[in-house]
Amino acid sequence: MNLQTGDGIRNSLTITPNDPVPVAIVKCSDYEPDLVYRALQRAVSLAGGLDTCVAPGTRVLVKPNLLQGLPPERAVCTHPVVVGAVIRLLKERGCEVTLADSPGGGIRYTPASLARQYERAGYGVLAGDPGCVLNLDTGFDTARYPEGRVCREFPLIRPYFSSDHVVVVSKAKTHVLTLLSGATKNLFGLIPGLEKPLFHSRFQSGERFGEMLIDLNLLVRPSLQVTDAIVIMEGDGPTSGTPRPMGFLLVSPSPLALDMVLCRLMSLNPKEVPYLRCAIERGLLTPDGSNIEIIGDPLPPSDTFRVKKPRTCAGSGGGIQVTPLFWAVHALGKVYAMRPSVNPDLCSGCGKCIAICPAHAITLAGGRARIPSRHCMRCYCCHEMCSEGALFLERGFAGSLLHRVIRACGFAHDDDEKNGA
Ligand code: SF4
Ligand code: SF4
Repeated sequence: MNLQTGDGIRNSLTITPNDPVPVAIVKCSDYEPDLVYRALQRAVSLAGGLDTCVAPGTRVLVKPNLLQGLPPERAVCTHPVVVGAVIRLLKERGCEVTLADSPGGGIRYTPASLARQYERAGYGVLAGDPGCVLNLDTGFDTARYPEGRVCREFPLIRPYFSSDHVVVVSKAKTHVLTLLSGATKNLFGLIPGLEKPLFHSRFQSGERFGEMLIDLNLLVRPSLQVTDAIVIMEGDGPTSGTPRPMGFLLVSPSPLALDMVLCRLMSLNPKEVPYLRCAIERGLLTPDGSNIEIIGDPLPPSDTFRVKKPRTCAGSGGGIQVTPLFWAVHALGKVYAMRPSVNPDLCSGCGKCIAICPAHAITLAGGRARIPSRHCMRCYCCHEMCSEGALFLERGFAGSLLHRVIRACGFAHDDDEKNGA
């Protein structure tokens, strides 16, 4: 990713004293295209305008919520009219737009499957729109984030690497794992196909998953957030809840600030949303939201939209569309995920990997590092730390076998074997 910052483009994820982050909230009663477009224009302008976040003529990845590619009336995916309005606004700025998501939930991440999901979610009409491409490239590469607190390497879908900006167009929903699914959680869709259950396996608690989401947002630093809260989902989101009209569009440069306002709108306690708790603890949000400036139409009185919460808030893989394959990869995550191995010919015995390993899994034997796999939690910090190139990632026998089965079923590429870290 070659983010074009430049003068006037602010960093959307840090708190600046005396400069609160704007969150624009604008009424929009239904999905009539002109109404949505006008509401979006107003909200973007209230939030500071595109001049502050997207440079003209750049390549923009528009990231909707395409979960399961379900039809608009189910309120699972971002409504196509909202996505279309965002694309129109960006094209008017001379941007080249790529619409991309890895829809998750054990869905096959293949070009044919993606094409089907675009159609089912109502995005097919955008394909004929010059200046907008619906991504069909299902490859991925690794992005490194050395500053990450719990995750320093992310496999990300390929369009991310060829974009100057990411604009997130999310759907407001309750969620059984994270309680809220809005702007911040949306970026999890940049993680391709079957890497998702591996991440759920590695980051099982709500807290660790939340920390990983914050690391991911800090790495990607999306330029603009638009949230479709015209009809939200309440109850057992992200897929099995109930649509409920709410009548708002929200826009902000900051995913965290936007989600704080979304909590207020949906009468959810931000302290119950693990990733918001993590953001507060990291100093990226103030507990009372005092670093946020809410602009636009007045927020309805509190409790107007007391949404139904999920029946269970699992914090450990619940709420995810669990296909047998997803379940298998999640349950066998430790077996399936690549593990670090040492090339003794290259290892100098410097011990840097031992010092960094949070699981204390690495020992030194005969002047060479040794990694017994039972203690390793697959964080790959050691791999990143080794400057001798002595560590490489590979699957064990059972993991390779599982990968072969998955590949034979068309759920993974040959590429995944080498990119899978
Ligand atoms: S960091 Fe690399 S070279 Fe140093 S001990 Fe670990 S594997 Fe060996
Ligand atoms: S040995 Fe495992 S747990 Fe330790 S740093 Fe390497 S990948 Fe992480």
